[in-house]
Amino acid sequence: MSELEKNFKNLTKTIREYQPKADLELVELAFEFAREAHAGQKRMTGEDYIFHPLATAQILANMKLNIPIIIAGLLHDVPEDTKVSLTEIEKNFGADVANMVEGITKLGTIKYRGIERYIENLRKMFLAIAKDLRVILIKFADRLHNLKTLYALPRNKQIRIASEVMEIYAPIANRLGMYEMKGKLEEEAFKYLYPKEYNWLKKLIEEQTKVKEKYLNKIILFVNQELKDEGIDVIEVKGRVKQLYSLYQKLLKHNKDINRVYDFVAIRIIVEDMPTCYAALGIIHKKMKPLKGRIKDYIAQPKPNGYSSLHTTVFTLDGEIIEIQIRTKEMDENAEFGIAAHWHYDEKGSLKPNKLTRWIEELTKWQKELIANEKFLENLKIDVFHDRIFVFTPKGDVIDLPAAATPVDFAYYVHTDIGNQCAGALINNHIASLDTPLKSGDVIEILTDKNRKYPNADWIKSVKTSLARSKIKSILAKRTLIDRFLNK
Ligand code: MN
Repeated sequence: MSELEKNFKNLTKTIREYQPKADLELVELAFEFAREAHAGQKRMTGEDYIFHPLATAQILANMKLNIPIIIAGLLHDVPEDTKVSLTEIEKNFGADVANMVEGITKLGTIKYRGIERYIENLRKMFLAIAKDLRVILIKFADRLHNLKTLYALPRNKQIRIASEVMEIYAPIANRLGMYEMKGKLEEEAFKYLYPKEYNWLKKLIEEQTKVKEKYLNKIILFVNQELKDEGIDVIEVKGRVKQLYSLYQKLLKHNKDINRVYDFVAIRIIVEDMPTCYAALGIIHKKMKPLKGRIKDYIAQPKPNGYSSLHTTVFTLDGEIIEIQIRTKEMDENAEFGIAAHWHYDEKGSLKPNKLTRWIEELTKWQKELIANEKFLENLKIDVFHDRIFVFTPKGDVIDLPAAATPVDFAYYVHTDIGNQCAGALINNHIASLDTPLKSGDVIEILTDKNRKYPNADWIKSVKTSLARSKIKSILAKRTLIDRFLNK
């Protein structure tokens, strides 16, 4: 069986698991339709293009979404990249699927650069959400797979796509309660924005998981037994490792000391209903002493995105500290899939419509805040950018510089000659002095003077990159030599 066939088999197998009566013939038709439309096209990875929409559909199936969404996932790049039109999609798969595909196509083209690009991007995302939330689910899946094949793209594109995910996609996933998706998007984007930190953390997690595994299994057994002894019906007790990027943010607050992150691993207890959650909490506290100030009741007071659960941190009998989360199955599914749970095939009616309304209200509120607040850009920026900035060339290429870098740093980054001949700078189309500290999102244009041969010695004082500093020094040293020679 070919790789492609294997992947398609896998998709149908996943779908069958959560919706045994699904119309798989229609899914196969959509797959063949997309395969034909994309025939001959390749991805940057060298693979046939069809692997991408298929992977997108697989991500949607992993989220247990219904058939029309999966079909739209398979067809999502057809109108943009091939000769096959939206009308043909509508003829074959109906207006509902065609409308979703159209929504994704509209999200695809963003013509602006720099800050304008960012605002345009956000605006389009909100428009799509307002029209049909399912479009965003497909867009998330599409972006997640693009991140997984990002290695095949040039560095500047990697940074642009990864920053878009950190600044726009992940915060929206979070607002929609889609923790699972948010965590995956952030992990992949983090890998490209901070490769060194990412690899360090990956290793640390591996080591720590080994260390904690035995002890975690022991607590799971203990908790299971104690709850059963007290007559609690436990559906499941499991261990979970904190999502990679949120762990990183927490580590930054604690001097990168993993022993101070109490929820690096946590125990999750799933029970039948809400009263049982509280009963279980009582029993846990009777057996293991809770840490002061660490009991959180997100059932009585859910997070704005709807997250509900009980959290407590306790001392185990061995004196270790561990976080315990208690919730019902429904709360658990909602925490994982958030708003996407609304389109679960097998969950008809289990998600109350008022929940959907609440999410949309929350999102609308957020959107209004962003637009009303002039500093919304900074608000959305995550502190991953605290010591690094991303600025743009007039053509829209992203350049990664240390915080407070100047136009001179930028000029030398682009080309040594541009650095040496640098005479002035436009920041976001305004004249600025050459020692102005740059901010993320700035669009920089360097004005050069072709007659100029040497950099200004004063620049050394304000530049932040070692590249600019060493270039300036070496050129000035050469000049001194030449001057001496000419004067004698
Ligand atoms: Mn795509």
